[in-house]
Amino acid sequence: MAATEPDNATSAADASPAGPAPTHDDAAPVAATDLGGGVWTIPVPIPDNPLGHTLVYVLESERGPVLVDAGWNDPTSLAALTSGLESLGTSISDVHGILATHNHPDHHGLSQAVVDASGAWIAMHEADAAQVEMINTAPRTQWLDHHIATLRAAGAPQDAIDAVVDRRTAPAPLVEKPRQLYATPNRSLVHGELADVKGRDVRVIWTPGHTPGHVCLHLEEGIGTGSARAGRLLSGDHLLPGITPHIGLYAGDATGGESDPLGDFLASLARVAALPVTGVLPAHQHLFDNAAGRVEEIVAFHERRLGSLLTQLQSSPRTLWEIACGMEWNRPWEELGAQNRIVAVSEAASHLRHLLKRGQAAPVNLDDPIRYAAA
Ligand SMILES: [Zn+2]
Ligand SMILES: [Zn+2]
Repeated sequence: MAATEPDNATSAADASPAGPAPTHDDAAPVAATDLGGGVWTIPVPIPDNPLGHTLVYVLESERGPVLVDAGWNDPTSLAALTSGLESLGTSISDVHGILATHNHPDHHGLSQAVVDASGAWIAMHEADAAQVEMINTAPRTQWLDHHIATLRAAGAPQDAIDAVVDRRTAPAPLVEKPRQLYATPNRSLVHGELADVKGRDVRVIWTPGHTPGHVCLHLEEGIGTGSARAGRLLSGDHLLPGITPHIGLYAGDATGGESDPLGDFLASLARVAALPVTGVLPAHQHLFDNAAGRVEEIVAFHERRLGSLLTQLQSSPRTLWEIACGMEWNRPWEELGAQNRIVAVSEAASHLRHLLKRGQAAPVNLDDPIRYAAA
């Protein structure tokens, strides 16, 4: 369930997410880096995660600093964000607003702490705001029940299902941790509109795929008018330089549903490639220049994956579980733990769903578990 996990690039991305460990001391004060034009970045650590950091961006505005994403909810992360803002001569209590690229905890987890310190507003696309509402209200067992049902429908063997059932029936800890709620956004980011950042033009570009309400933010900094103005793109997780974001079925969707997250993602990549982008400011890893070139690489990566899935389905009808086992991951299937297998099945499901939508695959039976073949 990507919605409650940090981005987990289980897929055989063109670069492994398990890169070198972060080199700086996470407890040391963090300095913001000046990117020019009233934009700074602060690396906010994601403890115990190979991704290392969320790159939080600070936009200067006439009403005070506006953050693009806030980071992971952890005292170390909060300390880094706090010291980064102080290095700019401002403070966390001065933050005027937060533009959340999407609802994942490495982006939106720390928003509540920022709001508590500053009273800032939070803006998010309504489709991801709905996911926040779902996460905040659904009991934990509902997610596990959803995973169990998904694995059953996929034709998973009993031991894989049992691994999740064991977590569902595990006794509650003696001291129950307080339930962590995510901040509820109080403004909407609407595709094509300008976000409310006084003194600069920040255009909202809806880029569903990684999540249903993911957005990129295009800084219209160049000469000219409207969306033809060139500028840097705050790309969130949509466009990353060395890894591809997890594309699974949207939370709340299931086998047999109608959404097509991979189709959405490919369309969102085309949308971004058409923008006049002068540089990319992603939420992880590092800045890069060639947005359209990176889009081409990511499209090719998913087309290769779709092609090898189609080859599987041409040789014999398969269940979703068998499809997932037969796909390429960043570790051998046997070494993926129960949680990563759930993520992998979700990613396999999004690729299968896209082949079904393209008319290149179809179910061959309607009883459980469903098998699919090339059409
Ligand atoms: Zn992320
Ligand atoms: Zn994400």
